[in-house]
Amino acid sequence: MKLFEKVLIANRGEIALRILRACKEMGIKTVAIHSTADETSKHVRLADESVCIGPPSAKDSYLKMSAIISAAEVTGADAIHPGFGFLSENAAFAQMVEEHGITFIGPTPQHITMMGDKITAKKTMIDLGVPVVPGTEGAVNVDNAIEWANKIGYPVIVKATSGGGGKGMKVATSDEEVVNAVRLAGVEAKANFGNDEVYMERYLRRPRHIEIQVVADTHGNAVNLGERDCSIQRRHQKVWEEAPSPALAQDQRRTLGDIVNKAMKKMGYRGVGTLEFLFEDGQFFFMEMNTRIQVEHPVTEMVTGIDLIKEQIMIAAGHPLSFKQEDIKITGHAIECRINAEDPETFAPSPGKVIAYHTPGGFGVRVDSHVYGGYVVPPHYDSMVAKLIVHGKNREEAMQKVKRCLDEYIVDGIKTTIPLHRMLVDNPDMRKGDYDIHWLEKHLKKDA
Ligand code: ADP
Repeated sequence: MKLFEKVLIANRGEIALRILRACKEMGIKTVAIHSTADETSKHVRLADESVCIGPPSAKDSYLKMSAIISAAEVTGADAIHPGFGFLSENAAFAQMVEEHGITFIGPTPQHITMMGDKITAKKTMIDLGVPVVPGTEGAVNVDNAIEWANKIGYPVIVKATSGGGGKGMKVATSDEEVVNAVRLAGVEAKANFGNDEVYMERYLRRPRHIEIQVVADTHGNAVNLGERDCSIQRRHQKVWEEAPSPALAQDQRRTLGDIVNKAMKKMGYRGVGTLEFLFEDGQFFFMEMNTRIQVEHPVTEMVTGIDLIKEQIMIAAGHPLSFKQEDIKITGHAIECRINAEDPETFAPSPGKVIAYHTPGGFGVRVDSHVYGGYVVPPHYDSMVAKLIVHGKNREEAMQKVKRCLDEYIVDGIKTTIPLHRMLVDNPDMRKGDYDIHWLEKHLKKDA
């Protein structure tokens, strides 16, 4: 069976480079698209062709569907990889790509729509036998907020139906707070997602964020590649991820994996995806599903030896999975540190010119980044500039490796969150793997 001739990468930064590298190894030509702010980006320089699609503002470039489709048509690309963020979970874009006779490297528009609406996603998972966080069956409003909150039991969290990136979420602990929480979450949701619909669920006190990576082909096969623990978060955004989770027992892993495989098969899902759960007192609660590759996918690659981007491309080209569930072996331990161009104390963005750049290396070390000495980090986009990923034979070795690598890592000219990761790797709780989703914020408050 054949592959694609030419893939257009509808993204920027490290993930665009990551996709480009996979394509090159597969003998596929690449087209980079970029805004005027990203002319000097590494993936633009390394691509076979590049097309400037607009000014810096994402809405006029990386989110501009017509410009991206035109770029694909002009260059003769036969597939588009959306990466993450931007248009990766936009069903209209997936649909438009396919209508132009180009393959969208991702799930069907129907599945993107279904999982993009978090209320529908939860309903679908309940029907598929997946345990979910207890909450409202549909949207809530200021009039029924108190009634629902009392049914669920305080504390509750109000979340945007079309939310993402931790935005549009408000916690309430009483009848007095909940009406306001619904109102505020709605306003935030409207501003960020153009949709003010919100729902409510029980707010778990000390859960871990555990997500399962799934891969499914168009021949009815669905396999899971184990979990990632992404509990280290700030403002509901992931900072540090690891696999396997220090908190899961083998039988818990297997039980959840079986439930997820069955659900994906029944759904007829295609492509890679992630089911996100909260895990508390030995119980899993589904929160949402991301129908795309995720930032933290490398930790799974390191412990399974499977290249997830190549798998995405193979699945989109119609190939069956080259492995079965029993072939998946989790080997050793992997950790990813997200390195942002931010002040490590105030978290204020720190764009600008990188004067000197030296990355760590050695056995089991991987740096996914588009940064180079002399590169200017533009102020217009997400502040993540690099991911440091290490693989060790066990968690202890992986932690030692993180520590060693952070000491080697030099980024001069801009501020980065490397010092935050240095603090994390030395912390006794982190050393033990003893943390939940609130740990980092509590810890930062203590330090302040
Ligand atoms: P987003 O799509 O914006 O990332 P998620 O639904 O994935 O939103 O939630 C992001 C994070 O918010 C979770 O990883 C968790 O830390 C926190 N969170 C979400 N729902 C709950 C809940 N019911 N109880 C406690 N924390 C929650």
